[in-house]
Amino acid sequence: MFKPEILAPAGNMEKLQMAVTYGADAVYFAGSQLGLRAGAKNFKEEEIKEAVDYCHDHGVKAYITVNVIAHDEHLIGIEDYLTFLNSIGADAIIVSDPGVLQLAKKFAPNAEIHLSTQANTTNAQTANFWHDVGVDRIVLARELTLEEITQIIQRKKDTLKIEAFVHGAMCISYSGRCLLSSYMTGRNANLGDCAHPCRWKYNLVEEMRPDEYYPVIEDENGTFIMNSKDLCTITFLDQLYQAGIESFKIEGRMKSAYYNAIVVRSYKHALKEVMEGKPIDPYWLDEIKKASHRDFTPGFYFGNPKEEGQLYTSSSYIRHYDFVGRVLDYDESTGMATVEQRNKFSVGDTVEIFGPDIRHFDATITQMLDHKGQAIESAPHAQQIIQIKVPQPVKPWDLIRKQREDV
Ligand code: SF4
Repeated sequence: MFKPEILAPAGNMEKLQMAVTYGADAVYFAGSQLGLRAGAKNFKEEEIKEAVDYCHDHGVKAYITVNVIAHDEHLIGIEDYLTFLNSIGADAIIVSDPGVLQLAKKFAPNAEIHLSTQANTTNAQTANFWHDVGVDRIVLARELTLEEITQIIQRKKDTLKIEAFVHGAMCISYSGRCLLSSYMTGRNANLGDCAHPCRWKYNLVEEMRPDEYYPVIEDENGTFIMNSKDLCTITFLDQLYQAGIESFKIEGRMKSAYYNAIVVRSYKHALKEVMEGKPIDPYWLDEIKKASHRDFTPGFYFGNPKEEGQLYTSSSYIRHYDFVGRVLDYDESTGMATVEQRNKFSVGDTVEIFGPDIRHFDATITQMLDHKGQAIESAPHAQQIIQIKVPQPVKPWDLIRKQREDV
C-alpha cells in the first residue's frame, strides 16, 4: 500500500533524535555551511556523520540541505563538502541552485537530488524539466492548490517523486525568495539568515517627525501586514494522501525538540488513520496546539488564502504548555522515573506525560528526588536530573509538559 513519508526538520542532534523517536521516516538538516536556516545550530562535519549514522541505525533517511541561493563566493569548498556528504551515505542532497545541482550530481553521485521549495516549482512542465537534468524529487512551491498539485502528479514522469509541505511557518514571499530581511537588516534569507521582518509591526513615520508614529490600522491592535499564519493540514491529510504526494514535509528547523515530537507524532498517527480508512481523530490537532504555534491556515491548498492567511493582531506565538522534562529511565520496582528537567516544575503540579505511541495521561507530582536521592520540592535548574513518582510505567524519550498558569 502507498505510504507517504513523514519528513521532519532537525536543527540539532536532540531535535533529530526526537523526530526519529516520534515516528519520522526521514529527517532533513543542514551542515554548518550552505544550508538555509543559519539561526538553527546545524551540524558540524563530525556531527553530520553521527546524525546520518543515527538515522540509518533507526531505519530513517537523512537528507542534507545545500539549498542556499549561491553566489560564487558561497561555492568555495563545495566540491569537498559534497564529496564528504557522499562518503557518509547521505540519502539526498536538497538543492535549489542549478549550479549546486550539477555539482551535487558530480560529487555526491550516490545521493538522490531533491529540489528545494526555494526553486519554486509550480507546474508539471518545470517538474519534468528538473527531472530530465537529474532531480529525483521536487519539493513543490507552497503556493499551489491541491488541484494544481494533483494535476502535476498526474502529468509528471513516473520516476519523479513529489514532496509538499504539510505543516509549519509560511513565508509572505514566494517560498522564501525574499530580500526584505537582507534589505532591512543585512541578514540574507536566501543564505538562511532571515530576521523575519515580515512579522514586525509597522507604522508610518514622516521624516521630520521621527517620534510620531502614524498607525496603519487594520484594526485597534495595529497592523502586521505581512505576518502569515502557520500552515496546518492535519484535518485534511486524507486529501493530500489521495492526491498522491509521496512525502509530507514539516517545517521548523528552528523550532524546539518538543515541537518536533508533538508534530511528527500527530501527523504519523493521523496518516495511519487515513491509511486505515478511519476518520482523523481530532485529538491529533489538539495535540499540535499544545506546541507553540500561530493561528493555523490551510495555506494555498484550497486557493489563495488572501487576508484569511494573515495574522493582523500579533506576531507572538500561542503557547499553552511548557515542556518540563524528558524521561531518561524508569524503575518498575519503585515506580520512579528519572527525568531531565527542561522547565521548572514542582511537587503538587499536575503534568501530562506522553510517548511516541501513547496518548497523554495526567500525573500529579507527589514525590521528587534530587540526584542524591534527597526529597526536593521543585526542580528549578535547567537540565537537572531528578526522579519523580509516576502513576503508570513510562519509557525513555517520553515527555512531560505542564499547562501554563497564564492560560
Ligand atoms: S522576511 Fe518573512 S517572507 Fe521574507 S524570507 Fe523571511 S520569513 Fe520569509
